[in-house]
Amino acid sequence: MDKIMALAKRRGFIYQASEIYGGLSGFWDYGPLGAQLKKNLRDAWWEDVVLNPSGGRPGPNGEPVRVVPLDTSIIQHPKVWEASGHVAGFSDPMVDCRETQQRYRFDHVLVYAPASGDARGRPLLAFVPDTSSESRRRKQAEKAFGEVRTLPLAQLPRDEWSRVVAPDAERPGTLTEPRAFNLMFKTYVGATASEDDVAYLRPETAQGIFVQFKNVVDTTRVKLPFGIAQVGKAFRNEVTPRNFTFRSREFEQMEIEFFCHPSEARDWYAFWRDERMRWWRELGLAGENLQLRVHEPDELAHYAREGAGTADVEYRFPFTAPGFGELEGIAHRSSFDLAQHQQHSRSSLEYFDAERGELLPNGAHKGEKYLPHVIEPSAGLDRGVLAVLCEAYVEDAARASPELLLLSPRLAPIKAAIFPLVNKAGMPEVSEKLYRDVHRRFWRRGLIEHDVKQAIGKRYARMDEAGCPFCFTIDGQTLQDQTVTVRDRDSAQQKRIALGRVVSYLEERLGPE
Ligand code: ATP
Repeated sequence: MDKIMALAKRRGFIYQASEIYGGLSGFWDYGPLGAQLKKNLRDAWWEDVVLNPSGGRPGPNGEPVRVVPLDTSIIQHPKVWEASGHVAGFSDPMVDCRETQQRYRFDHVLVYAPASGDARGRPLLAFVPDTSSESRRRKQAEKAFGEVRTLPLAQLPRDEWSRVVAPDAERPGTLTEPRAFNLMFKTYVGATASEDDVAYLRPETAQGIFVQFKNVVDTTRVKLPFGIAQVGKAFRNEVTPRNFTFRSREFEQMEIEFFCHPSEARDWYAFWRDERMRWWRELGLAGENLQLRVHEPDELAHYAREGAGTADVEYRFPFTAPGFGELEGIAHRSSFDLAQHQQHSRSSLEYFDAERGELLPNGAHKGEKYLPHVIEPSAGLDRGVLAVLCEAYVEDAARASPELLLLSPRLAPIKAAIFPLVNKAGMPEVSEKLYRDVHRRFWRRGLIEHDVKQAIGKRYARMDEAGCPFCFTIDGQTLQDQTVTVRDRDSAQQKRIALGRVVSYLEERLGPE
């Protein structure tokens, strides 16, 4: 992971926020290539969710899938977060270590115990998976107990906590009782900054969608089943931000709330679960690093227990391996959120379905009024970018550039680079003209690079690290026979094509606009 972070910094993908002031934990900035990569992933989601949902494939009802976009405020009425349950419940219980002053998420701490029997008064060794404490504690535990098993701290009876050595501590019994910390960032609206003016930065984009559901139905021609999609910033005052951008305090979410009749919720849940998995796979997160994990019944939120279920699209990040980390959650939320907002706002959020209902004895048709059920595919844009970078990162010692990014042409921030072999002998003039032609045709798709400096090997190496899929070079032969070399990043192979074919070569490989 350190190498990927170093490359991300070196090539201008991701910088530490406020770095010249020593950085700010949990905040990251995207550099020129990172900002473009992030935009490309956001655009891909928007295109495949809003503009052309599921690539035109029909939903389970046999009809085209309908999704409309929305863009709601980061700051909402504070009652929104009371209704959603965030004010009361949006907190991860934490335990503190009195010896090291470290703080851990209660549900993240595990302990090593003897595989059978009991530890007969000996210390139980706690650790947090995917941190250095895991292997350190494992060695100690195996030495002490022989065969070991792990169990969550949460399952250990309280009277045994005095024997637990915290993940980074030396002495047993230093962990405090779990305490709740609200993860929402508080702010004040208006100048007086009194307690009456407290507001929150949204911890998720979803609630803005629920709150505007009725307006969308009343002001557009959408009919159930349909989805509302929103992409935007969310803020969580995470107690332990870590693993690069994976757990940040400011991040972007891409969320869909798909509204349907309760009787159709199971089918739509299955549809979106499979569809979202397919989408990530199609973007290049193929193979064994991607998995769909269906939640066990005891993991489910209370409102989801009776429903169709919850599943996570997970990626095996270098820091979670061999385990996986969540990229996107797909949940059947029943009518929980709409019901909450309906109750707290005292305004009806019921949907009138003219196509359902019953035929009355007098022959008239009576429609059905109901609170729709919701399927929520909720993805993290920053985690998506991180997964894409991790998947694309390859080391190849045989190359002049031993590290490269095999980004798909759709996501690559730089789509093509054009170089004169040397910055003289009539070559720069030809390459500049080619650059202008390619730029005119492809600027909407991403960056086009024109670079005349340095040895050509170094320029290729720089483009390999930036993940640029195609480099075109004007050389001495170009001036004689009007051909250029095109270098394929993945194979580092070069071949010659006609100068006049470069634009169509790229059209074929970058796909339709
Ligand atoms: P986790 O269990 O990892 O904290 P979560 O289940 O709380 O995640 P959700 O509330 O379902 O996450 O949010 C939806 C998506 O938003 C997640 O799948 C993830 O991609 C992204 N996300 C959530 N929290 C963060 C964060 N702190 N930093 C970056 N992305 C995040």
